[in-house]
Amino acid sequence: MHELALADAVMKAALQAADDAGIDRIQRLVVKVGELQQIEKDLFEFSLTSVLAAQDPRLSGAKFDVEEEAVRFGCNACGREYGRDDASLGDDAEQAEAIHFIPELSHAFARCPSCGSPDFQIMAGRGITLESLEGSGGGDG
Ligand SMILES: [Zn+2]
Repeated sequence: MHELALADAVMKAALQAADDAGIDRIQRLVVKVGELQQIEKDLFEFSLTSVLAAQDPRLSGAKFDVEEEAVRFGCNACGREYGRDDASLGDDAEQAEAIHFIPELSHAFARCPSCGSPDFQIMAGRGITLESLEGSGGGDG
């Protein structure tokens, strides 16, 4: 189960971050999921809240927010950063429809809106990041 493995990785990172910050009880976790990351969001949230939260007392009662991170491209030719909506995708309706249903395809079709170069890197919108963590620390450090 892909989502559970990802949730597990997020949780390990969260517990590590909590250790570093001296947090004994995590109250809120914000996780960003890139729109190019192909996951079942409901299953991912379920993995976080129901499966993993039960495994560590620091997480019991924690609130999880899963937010989607929009994809950002960075042009390798001129340095411009642009989003999926800015990307020049041409007039091909079939192609546009394919991208609508499978955002991952924008990777294959995007062109820089400034210079038209297809040579870009993905700056954001891929993978899963632990965005923030709130909690309270105990007294015995
Ligand atoms: Zn460019």
